[in-house]
Amino acid sequence: MEKSSKSKKRLNTAKELPLIIAEYYQECHEAKKEGRPVGWMPPMNGGIELFYAMGLQPVFPENWSPVCAAFGLTHKNFEVCEGMGYSRDLCGYLRNIIGYVHGMMGGPDNPLGGLPEPDIILPPQGGCSPVMKIFQALMRRFPQARTFYADMPQVAIENIRDHHMNYAVFEMKRLVNFLEEVTGRKLDYDRLKEVVRLSDKACELWDEIMSYRRFIPTPISASEIGIMFVMVTRQGTQTAVDYLTRVRDELKERAEQKVGILENEKVRLFWDNIPLWYNMGLFNYFEKMGGVVVAETYSAAWSLRLDADNPMETLARKTLTSYPLVSCVSIKKRKEMVLKACREYAIDGAILHRNKSCVPITLGQMDIKRELEEMDIPALIIDADHMDDRNFSTAQFQTRADAFMEMLLSRKGYSL
Ligand code: SF4
Repeated sequence: MEKSSKSKKRLNTAKELPLIIAEYYQECHEAKKEGRPVGWMPPMNGGIELFYAMGLQPVFPENWSPVCAAFGLTHKNFEVCEGMGYSRDLCGYLRNIIGYVHGMMGGPDNPLGGLPEPDIILPPQGGCSPVMKIFQALMRRFPQARTFYADMPQVAIENIRDHHMNYAVFEMKRLVNFLEEVTGRKLDYDRLKEVVRLSDKACELWDEIMSYRRFIPTPISASEIGIMFVMVTRQGTQTAVDYLTRVRDELKERAEQKVGILENEKVRLFWDNIPLWYNMGLFNYFEKMGGVVVAETYSAAWSLRLDADNPMETLARKTLTSYPLVSCVSIKKRKEMVLKACREYAIDGAILHRNKSCVPITLGQMDIKRELEEMDIPALIIDADHMDDRNFSTAQFQTRADAFMEMLLSRKGYSL
């Protein structure tokens, strides 16, 4: 197995994704050329709907990191970032984007044309420390960009109270005033309602798509999880709704005809933590042995619903609950989410990615492993990194994963 390889796509709709990604980045560049303000922001933030409603262009620096990983550019970016004195132990997203904006950005070798410079920066209103530091570094790199710094409370989802909500709504309204003043565009509330309705529809479709993974055999695996791109970059657009509808329809048809992603599905797996963006081919490794990843922690991030009749409240709540797997959730809640997914998706074994560059999502994994084993679900811990292949050993992975798969297969009466 190579250290970096791509996953095999079986769904026709998953094969459409490169075009959808290219179109999005093209739109970002067109916005810049046309003088339509470009804003950089974190994902899972109510800012995306406000931007689309006002005809502004949202850009997501975190999302650019998987793109760089897919194009094999992370080494260059890490080199620049680490050369500036940033420690190799920091989050790979942070090192990649900081290296990118101080290195190859604007140069000739940028895939998809690279990122257009921001006119506006919306730093996250919560989240882990690395993500907040990413935006502080971006604010220093692009001092000409106008910055809106919201003062959102960081509170676990289960502890959100009315006073948190009232304050969050106040901050969203302050953001609207800021955008109106900076861009000279007025927010049309009817248009905002329409955008929120589209965003909610995308979430509904996302949940429906994920529910097809409960089928045995599953018609979709983690190899196709790149479809998440539209949830990160296109929420609130007809493009996202149309694409997710096509994905849903393809899955429905496959499920009705009992066409699995594998010809002979033997073992159903859960993946905890972020995938290895530079090595999505790792999923092929399990699939060759009849093991398919049918659920993961990451995909739950988009399981939320929005109320189009109360757009400011619903966007405020979305922003408050952004990073639902990290700082806005207790370890207890995260554990509950993993155990619930393992029950609902009939999981035979769980792979816990101990992610060197994401401590927040890695925290609590030993507890999760213990509880899974009490449920008679064996769990394997693998050491890796979602961005940095220098922290991943193929040989060590194979030794552990081979033994794990052999054990899972024999429990179900198969041999390796
Ligand atoms: S949650 Fe993890 S991967 Fe995401 S920014 Fe924070 S440390 Fe990095």
